[in-house]
Amino acid sequence: MSQSLQGDQNFQGYQINKTETGQTCELKELSKNDLMEGDVTIKVEYSTLNYKDGLALTGKSPVVRKFPLTPGIDFSGTVTNSDHTGFEAGDKVVLNGFGVGEVHSGGYAQMARVSGDWLVKLPSKIDARQAMAIGTAGYTAMLCVMALEQHGVKPADGNILVTGASGGVGSVAVAILSKLGYSVVATTGRMAEKDYLMSLGASEVIERQGFSEKARALYKELWAGAIDVAGGNTLANVLSQMKYGSAVAACGLAESMNLPTSVAPFILRGITLYGVDSVMASIEKRQQAWSRLERDLDMDLLERLSFDLDFNDLPQAAIDILDGKIRGRAIVKIPT
Ligand code: NDP
Repeated sequence: MSQSLQGDQNFQGYQINKTETGQTCELKELSKNDLMEGDVTIKVEYSTLNYKDGLALTGKSPVVRKFPLTPGIDFSGTVTNSDHTGFEAGDKVVLNGFGVGEVHSGGYAQMARVSGDWLVKLPSKIDARQAMAIGTAGYTAMLCVMALEQHGVKPADGNILVTGASGGVGSVAVAILSKLGYSVVATTGRMAEKDYLMSLGASEVIERQGFSEKARALYKELWAGAIDVAGGNTLANVLSQMKYGSAVAACGLAESMNLPTSVAPFILRGITLYGVDSVMASIEKRQQAWSRLERDLDMDLLERLSFDLDFNDLPQAAIDILDGKIRGRAIVKIPT
């Protein structure tokens, strides 16, 4: 069913423009002409702040590669107009990645227009606000859990390590794994968050400092599985501590893009390193992840690990997330 864009009227949104010295980001009035190509138009209700959004908003890394562009790598909302066979006006949808907020305008505006091929219908038990409490970080956490499960990692195999546990991916990973019956050891640079991490279901919280030095080729076998958001020395140390035949799901580079390790954990302990990408994951995998989130993420815990972030405060919060000062998941209500 097709409906005219609710508002041919203008709408509010952030826009990033390229300048000679870098980029500018301002909250301004946008028009229908600022919407990008696509067959589905959405009234955006919620977005969130992911690490990548921090990079995009501050320009610290060349995440935004098309200008002008509305940032925000994910959003949830209601379809207002669709020429795509899979969607009709009124559908509640969620979008994660597919270059949105990087090369296609994203969630930090009241309206968005995207390809229907990128959208997932929200599961009935997840509303638009919860979808962004989960956000790309939480959906990626679920992809990481699914990678460990597909490897055959079971609760009885031993402790699962989660790095960067106070952050978005880490917090949701701890909550999901504990609900699934795994014993979770959380590493953090913020021991002040120990009680918070225990309340999400961690059985133990350890300092991340022990993971930041140069790794030995092999160390004691400690972990039956691991989810890593940090890369760098952290991931190298994690690999050296994995049990024989176990697996690590790596999705992030909060410490570094480098991986200063050796082949020892792979050829002497049969470790598998799974790379997890959420941006270009297939629609089937996304649907599976979202329905698993509906089933395996405790919505009360989700509420506990998320907080409301004012739409106007996004530029400062972008700096904070890069400084590792954001705990859990930020929910950004798009003003109506
Ligand atoms: P957050 O900023 O919310 O969390 C990252 C956490 O990493 C921090 O909270 C901190 O946790 C920890 N950390 C920060 N600096 C370091 C360091 N130098 N060494 C070790 N740990 C560190 O980000 P997100 O959870 O949103 O994202 C985490 C990572 O995953 C990012 O690199 C992001 O780009 C990536 N990502 C990748 C996706 C994909 O598709 N592959 C999708 C989503 C995210 P603590 O204080 O508890 O130690």
